[in-house]
Amino acid sequence: MPTNSIGTEEQIDSVFYDTRKIGTTSNAAFFALTSSLGDGHRFLELAYQKGVRTFVVSEAIHFKKEDAVVYSVENTWVALFALAKYQRDLFQGTMILISGKIGKTTVKEWIYQLISSEIKVSRSPKSYNSELGIALSLLELKPNSDVALIEVKPHAELNPVAMNEIIRPEIGVWTAAIGSQPESMPSEFINSLFNNCHTFIHGAKTLPISLPKSMKSVSCFPLKKELILPQFLNDEISQTNASIAYCVANQIIKGEQKLKDQLSLLTRLALRMETFDGQNNNFIINDAYSLDADSMRNALEFQQQIANGKKRVVLIGLEENNEALKSELQAIIDQFAPETVVFIENTDRELPKFTDSIILIKGSRKTGISRLANEFKVNKHKTVIHIDLKSLRKNILAHKQLLPKGTKIMAMVKAAGYGLGLQKMAYFVESFGVDYLGVAYADEGVQIRNAGVSKPILVMNAEEETFQSCISNKLEPAIYDFQQLDTFISECIYQGEENYPIHLKIDTGMNRLGFLPSDIHKIIEVLDAQPEVRIKSIYSHLSDADNRRDKRFTELQISRFNEVMKKLSAHLPYSFDTHILNSSGVANFSSTPFSMARIGIGMYGISSNPELKRKLEPVLSWYSVVSQVKTIEKGQAVGYNRAFIAEQPTSVATIPIGYADGFKRSLSNGKGYVMIQGKKCPTLGKVCMDMIMVDVTNLEVKVGEEVEIIGPHLTLEEMALLQETIPYEIMTSISSRVHRIYIE
Ligand SMILES: *Cc1c(COP(=O)(O)O)cnc(C)c1O
Repeated sequence: MPTNSIGTEEQIDSVFYDTRKIGTTSNAAFFALTSSLGDGHRFLELAYQKGVRTFVVSEAIHFKKEDAVVYSVENTWVALFALAKYQRDLFQGTMILISGKIGKTTVKEWIYQLISSEIKVSRSPKSYNSELGIALSLLELKPNSDVALIEVKPHAELNPVAMNEIIRPEIGVWTAAIGSQPESMPSEFINSLFNNCHTFIHGAKTLPISLPKSMKSVSCFPLKKELILPQFLNDEISQTNASIAYCVANQIIKGEQKLKDQLSLLTRLALRMETFDGQNNNFIINDAYSLDADSMRNALEFQQQIANGKKRVVLIGLEENNEALKSELQAIIDQFAPETVVFIENTDRELPKFTDSIILIKGSRKTGISRLANEFKVNKHKTVIHIDLKSLRKNILAHKQLLPKGTKIMAMVKAAGYGLGLQKMAYFVESFGVDYLGVAYADEGVQIRNAGVSKPILVMNAEEETFQSCISNKLEPAIYDFQQLDTFISECIYQGEENYPIHLKIDTGMNRLGFLPSDIHKIIEVLDAQPEVRIKSIYSHLSDADNRRDKRFTELQISRFNEVMKKLSAHLPYSFDTHILNSSGVANFSSTPFSMARIGIGMYGISSNPELKRKLEPVLSWYSVVSQVKTIEKGQAVGYNRAFIAEQPTSVATIPIGYADGFKRSLSNGKGYVMIQGKKCPTLGKVCMDMIMVDVTNLEVKVGEEVEIIGPHLTLEEMALLQETIPYEIMTSISSRVHRIYIE
């Protein structure tokens, strides 16, 4: 960015609104944005400490530093958008706006793959498609590029007129939709968003909306016969999206034959960064898909965000003798100052041994660096679960938005983060800004402290044997009876602790752990005499919060809890947190004011409230691959005890997943099924320890083909129903040998 729009000649190269993402601070500006996520003004001091010296703040805030420039504006959002618009106006190339329900990032990346070897392209990083993302994308526009690709997510809250004015698109793109209809958005929305485009490229056979006459409409459906796509693009939506990318590229560059050649090389690959556990306690970020300045920056930013004090290692696969790219990348890397950087121009090279590090592996497809990523894996088992962090973040926010403003969130990461990985889930949810973490046992708390979590941690089942390690790891125990309270106080005395935070657990009707409401006077007496501990919070647990038909028991629990709260606060000279709502509590009783809520399953997209459920996204998906396919004759049997006997010729696919992975044996004999090519394939015979056999008769199934165990066609809830259990049990029984991939 050459100059800013606020009226000075000062140069700003980067804009931050989240202090965790601050990398380089020379010529950086911090915008204090206020949103439902929080108030950026609270982080001014932190941004200053991190080295930022240019600030844009709201007039209502007094913030002054000798050596910093502070711009006071009426509304920081408006200022940010004004700056984005200014940057847009500097851009002279072709502006392409990509929207549509699904596949925007794919289409954007494919257009990029098709044209970026010919001309200079700026594109919005990752799927940066909220209004804030749009502003940031425009701010990152390089004015000297020939083409800009900006992604916009259509939704009811988006103001299409305002976005159109700020983006000023010339070519509009609407991605393929299920059934090839630009469904769900009214035509005024589409018309406003793409206003003044000269061309509109889409994947519908016929457009159900009418475009202005001045706009040329190009349909890319169906895919032209002469266009050859890579084999993996075997569904209609991907094919249409590839066709759209081709049509767009064709508008922009000349050389049809060259484009066609490029088209057959499109990659599906991780558009999103994959992360997983590596050997030697390393954690791997695999972004071996493209290698350019934008994506390098994104990846480094992500690495920094999750590093939590761990060493950062950056491995870059580079084609030999590409000094220009190397020095460009080096300049970006320098801004983030990782501990170790290795350019690998020759994959035979011996690498040093890394331990306890966050390793970013970066390179383009051509360099073969993704093989290196595979070598780092702890777990090479082909059965994997994917954990979608973006959805996790959204789901947390959706719960927060239901609660009264200012309510804190405790993320429950007990039971290995509901099976998805204790340390990883802990530091991801911490980085998403939750206020507290909750675990079942002290050992879990110790592990997440070791992983670098610094937020307060509540231990629900604090056992006496663990009090010492609770204190030495700053874990805050839940106290649920007098004996335990006594022992904990003794430990505090022994260790010389005063005012050690504890949490009182009250049993309001679950009849599990907890003091009874009638114990409160005696508790107060003990506390009066003991300065060693201090009540940080008081809490209880609901037993029937998912019951939407009869709310009386929950209301009774809440009223009992309120009574205890009142008594305690009348007595204590200090304030404390109060919490009783779990995910279902938030979903169905959100208006009751408590200072905190504890959410677990809701973070993963499960809810008993259908209205909330619609706002949530699944976080977990589970995949395997086909190991072998064979056809058996009538009368032949499959698996142990010949439990399945074919009544007709049957195609059998063997999948490397069994009850030792968490695929329950109760799913034998067709009770369970998996999805291949979007089709139900029931189990044949008994589930083995490490394998299942499924029926793929009438499908053309190849070895290596993807098998969905849980995903878009077979949801976690459906899987739970098949096994007559609840999603919690499914999640927590996925075994540790299943490779876990975290997707940002
Ligand atoms: C597990 C647990 C939660 C979270 O419950 P969800 O139903 O997963 O939201 C909250 N509070 C306590 C005490 C718990 O044990």
